[in-house]
Amino acid sequence: MPALSLAPDEREAAVSLLRELIRLDTSNPPGNEGPAIGLLERRCRDLGLETVVDGAHPERPNLVAAWRASPAKRRGRPLVLSCHVDCVPADPERWTHSPWSAHHDGEHIWGRGTIDMKGFAAMGFAALARLRREGFEPDRDLLYVAVSDEEAGTRLGSRWLVEERPELLGKPEYVLNEVGGFTVHRGGRRFYPVQVAEKGVAWLRLTVTGRPGHSSLPMRGHAVERLARAIEAISEARLPWHPSEEARRFLGGFAKPRGAVAERIAGLLCHPRLGPRLLPLLVPDSSRRASVEAVLRNTANTTSLVAGGSINVLPGTASVEIDGRLAPGQRAADLVRELEAVLEPALHGGYMIDLLRESPPVSFSTETPLYRAIERSLGEADPGGHVVPSIVPGFTDSLNYAQLGAQCYGFYPLRLPSSLDFAALFHGDDERIPVEGFLWGVEVLAGLLRSFLSEDG
Ligand SMILES: [Zn+2]
Repeated sequence: MPALSLAPDEREAAVSLLRELIRLDTSNPPGNEGPAIGLLERRCRDLGLETVVDGAHPERPNLVAAWRASPAKRRGRPLVLSCHVDCVPADPERWTHSPWSAHHDGEHIWGRGTIDMKGFAAMGFAALARLRREGFEPDRDLLYVAVSDEEAGTRLGSRWLVEERPELLGKPEYVLNEVGGFTVHRGGRRFYPVQVAEKGVAWLRLTVTGRPGHSSLPMRGHAVERLARAIEAISEARLPWHPSEEARRFLGGFAKPRGAVAERIAGLLCHPRLGPRLLPLLVPDSSRRASVEAVLRNTANTTSLVAGGSINVLPGTASVEIDGRLAPGQRAADLVRELEAVLEPALHGGYMIDLLRESPPVSFSTETPLYRAIERSLGEADPGGHVVPSIVPGFTDSLNYAQLGAQCYGFYPLRLPSSLDFAALFHGDDERIPVEGFLWGVEVLAGLLRSFLSEDG
């Protein structure tokens, strides 16, 4: 099939939808996603799709728009394009152009959400609009899903849809979502990570007890002091390595094109005993080191503190919340054991760890027709690029779609120049998207859907 290229009016429409979405401030909290969901619903209806808008909160709904396959053609379970329309907040003081201006500097559109992930909301819609215009007929239902509340944990968004209205999603076989398909430049080569795994979540609360009393006396061993010791012990801890197949494929995928030495280094980093020692030597850059380390072990960062209520009283208890993230194959109970091993020598008892929320890590197969089609389409769109199955330390809506048995891939194709670093733009100040790279993504996505939904059996 010939490569797909957009007409001038299609390019214009895709960019203008993105700019309209950016101008609607959906910073979460509070979210206020209603107007963005409403805009997308109107567009989907104009395109002739069946739409349903529903949610737990009237001002923070979700959209499911369906392009039904004709019964004669239908050969598989649905494919979902999913995006969230909420964004993390932005401090305009720190931005060159207002985060909600959708400023167009001739090369980029600026704004909170251009990368994460209103760009994909506009891209997915533009791809569908193109295929409708061509008179294309998909051989399975194609669902365009836009959700609220991803950034604060997915409760009102994809989690609500999966738990309360799963019939709207119709047991999808595949979901395309963030985080992947963008260009990463390393050592003069271009890589395209495609997300196939996410670390799990274990949100914990550590409560320590100590001797309460009046704070006018010289006191040791009170709860606040013990909590400080515990926090220090957690932050100094080097938790054990849990090299997984997912981590090996990810690190190996970046290493392979760079030759045998790079591959050997990736292998050493995945070694359970040598890896932790060699990491600082082999990866001197601290932010890159953090991203390698994150895929190889559980992590635990102390975040919110609760201690004391009065300046002149030593409280009997003090607590801290811990954002724990689980490597593939790990569960919250494993992380709790690892933390107990760190805390016991510092505290000698007198503490407890409660589990506030657990979502196990998820991973998806790279041996599916869709994954292979993604590899092919990226290979055609950038013949020098290398596709790498990736694992991300955070969570996305795929966490919930996995419950429906779907294979979920982070595939939001975006050609980025070496001057733009995806990781710095994602939740960063001056988030912006290169217009040509975005339109390239619309063409790649539409081309993928056109070929996959007509040949796949
Ligand atoms: Zn996102």
